[in-house]
Amino acid sequence: MAHRRDHRSPDGMTEKCGVVGVSLAGRDAARPLYYSLYALQHRGQESAGIVTHDGFQQHSRVEMGLVGDVFDADDLDQLNGPTGIGHVRYPTSGGVNTCCAQPFSVSFKSGSLGLAHNGNLVNAAEIRSELEALGHAFTSNGDTEVIAHDLARNLLEEDLVRAVKRTMGRIHGSYALTIMHDDAVLGVRDPQGNRPLCIGELDDGYVLASESAAIDTLDGTLVRDVRPGELIVLAPDGSGFDSYQLLDRDDTAHCFFEHVYFARPDSVIDDSLVYDVRRDLGGELWAETGIETDVVMPVPDSGRSFASGYAEAANADGADVEFAEGLMKNRYVGRTFIMPTQDERERAVRLKLNPIKSTVEGKTVTIIDDSIVRGTTSTQLVDLIREAGAEEVHVRIGAPPIVAPCYMGIDMASRDELIAADKSTEEIREMVEADSLAYLSIDAIADVLDRSHGDLCLGCVTGEYPYDIDGERTDREVSRPAVGSGSAPADD
Ligand code: AMP
Repeated sequence: MAHRRDHRSPDGMTEKCGVVGVSLAGRDAARPLYYSLYALQHRGQESAGIVTHDGFQQHSRVEMGLVGDVFDADDLDQLNGPTGIGHVRYPTSGGVNTCCAQPFSVSFKSGSLGLAHNGNLVNAAEIRSELEALGHAFTSNGDTEVIAHDLARNLLEEDLVRAVKRTMGRIHGSYALTIMHDDAVLGVRDPQGNRPLCIGELDDGYVLASESAAIDTLDGTLVRDVRPGELIVLAPDGSGFDSYQLLDRDDTAHCFFEHVYFARPDSVIDDSLVYDVRRDLGGELWAETGIETDVVMPVPDSGRSFASGYAEAANADGADVEFAEGLMKNRYVGRTFIMPTQDERERAVRLKLNPIKSTVEGKTVTIIDDSIVRGTTSTQLVDLIREAGAEEVHVRIGAPPIVAPCYMGIDMASRDELIAADKSTEEIREMVEADSLAYLSIDAIADVLDRSHGDLCLGCVTGEYPYDIDGERTDREVSRPAVGSGSAPADD
């Protein structure tokens, strides 16, 4: 196999995370940050961190573990100040890694910086080498520290907005960032808007978050998505925010997998409610691949909205299918996907999911999941449901076959682990021992999201990426984004 340069961060890990930022009028930001991180826990369970600023100095707590375990009431009391940022980090197949817990914070000549990053840069190694040659010393292997050093360097020469613009012109790849420079909280989204980031209004301030569900948790109102290439600067007194469109491109590269799997169904991302998208994708799945069986069952939890949309469309079409919760999930079992060995992954699926015998016994059954990656879940489930007495087991998948890795921030396993990388759907059907297997088409995804193929990142299902990645094909002419002229606040 040809040697591929690893465009994930230098340690081979990618940053698949949730970020928040809060600026309030006269009340400490620690608790709103804590609650919003709680709402984003699904985006990262390896580490959690909060950095606040009280007008004089930073306060920080960043630890390995879940949000509820990392912070107790005393910790939150000590995180003083009305502005702050927070981060939850996704676990990776490489195991725990304390060095990359975030937010990353640093003090330097022009003040203090804190950075929380969701995404993955494709040129972090190059920038890091350049900065090292200039004498910068790095303490971690992650992309985030590279961004922090570059920004700190620019801040020695430029004002905040120009410094961010210069850093954005240098870094390539996907990034949704919340940044603290002294007590100012900033939000930045990469010029193709690969990862989500939105702005919310609270009674006494503003919040930035990867997903709108975090804003709901704070009883806030979603104002809008941060635009691709836009910098948002929250006023330190919580009174508003300024917008600067720093980089412009004609196209976007929104990650479709956020809608299919990663985001919460109750979040609105780039103007679409994820729940509605998944239900509509379920409807399309019926239209494209439907087969009438006695029962339609979701693989909990991610298959649920697809399955309800599928069953509803089936019945509206004159079929007679029962939508049933026939698989019970043990919610105390962690994520099976990242277990290090195949044997452990298989055991974990069995621990996690159990069929309700009476729902499937003597019946023809369709199970619906959002995606097949390695094929572990589907193989195990088909076997279990047959053992529980099903007459036929059909599998329907709410995404196209995953044929290539993700370089943009979602842990997708490596190419040689992806079952669809070198197998046809019929070969996969045989391997999972299903009576039939069908996936949703790429066109259906684009139709439901109401975007052209060229405005989505479809790299994992096409093997062609919207970013310039060595050893991979690109699906568009890769042009470095134009640096916008506007540094005047817009009217938002
Ligand atoms: P697999 O068992 O390897 O085929 O993986 C598919 C299952 O893992 C599905 O039930 C998905 O909901 C879930 N899944 C898909 N992508 C990811 C991901 N990036 N991280 C964790 N779980 C995932």
